[in-house]
Amino acid sequence: MQKRRFFSVALLLLVTFFSLGCTEETLEARIERLHKKMFTIDTHNDYSMWLENPDGDYGVKGGQVSFQQMHDGGLDAAFFAAYQDQGPIDPEFHRFAREYADTLILLLKQYAEQNSELGAIATSIKEMKALKKAGKVSLFLSIENACCLGDSLPLVKYYYDQGVRMIGLTHNGNNAIADAGTTKIKLHGGLSDFGKAVIAEMNRLGIVVDLSHASRDATLQAVQVSKTPIIASHSCAFAVRELSRNLSDEEIIAIAETGGVVHLALDAWLLRYGPDFSAASLDDFMKHLHYIIDLVGIDHVGVGSDFDGGGGLVDCKDMSKYHNLTKRLIEEGFSDEDIIKIWGGNFLRVFEEVERYAAEQR
Ligand SMILES: [Zn+2]
Repeated sequence: MQKRRFFSVALLLLVTFFSLGCTEETLEARIERLHKKMFTIDTHNDYSMWLENPDGDYGVKGGQVSFQQMHDGGLDAAFFAAYQDQGPIDPEFHRFAREYADTLILLLKQYAEQNSELGAIATSIKEMKALKKAGKVSLFLSIENACCLGDSLPLVKYYYDQGVRMIGLTHNGNNAIADAGTTKIKLHGGLSDFGKAVIAEMNRLGIVVDLSHASRDATLQAVQVSKTPIIASHSCAFAVRELSRNLSDEEIIAIAETGGVVHLALDAWLLRYGPDFSAASLDDFMKHLHYIIDLVGIDHVGVGSDFDGGGGLVDCKDMSKYHNLTKRLIEEGFSDEDIIKIWGGNFLRVFEEVERYAAEQR
């Protein structure tokens, strides 16, 4: 009897040992499990300008963004920007910028309709979660350079009603709202009074404030004005790559103190020094990621590729290659919890707060 019990226990131990060995998760299985479980969000791309003019020469690569590539790379949601180049601050240009932004938004909506078996426009976290459940990706509308607002506050509501849920205040030129990071002459010393009113209106309606491209003063003032956390949708750290377009430590800390997030671009120009920009890789991306995490913590970093607008790395060249980024995070020892935060958990926290504040105002 004793002997039989001994053999039973030995057999049980043996089975447990082998089953544990067999269930040890491979790297590929962990990547797949994570992408199934977490919400992955990329906060910036410039696909819309290629839709408007597929043969355009923008000095940057295209073909990096599509619903199919999002599926292939395990990306659940992306903000697709309606971008406008900055012109003079006058009524004629404002009219043009608005018409152009409206055209891009219309084209993005048409794209979503034409590819409805793969994805759809989303305007809330609830809609995004429902789309993931249905096996589809989410297209969020955003604006890069709010010159389409001209100097008209009611247009913020007009774009909210169009479905826009994020607005980047500037591009590489000053506008009626704020100064840009890359201009030599600053017009407003940061935000204009109109710019402050625009942020208040975005807060009221439930639009995420995006400060990529804005000047240092504009960023630091926006942090004070905004009632909700703010983000940079596609920026990197100035301390790693000195460029006025990148964020200073002071700006990163200020954004983090609002509860906001810095979404790192996969953009060679922002990530590294030249001349060999074509060699930019996830190695460069990780330097910025570690730097910002060391400065403000894991709760304030995310991903904003800038694909189709200057983004693209040798080992992560378009949206279909996003598993490589997850793989790299795992290899560098990030926990599942950290990876979930970087890939979208942090942004969802911001977006929830933006939605909650707007709901309170109604
Ligand atoms: Zn940009």
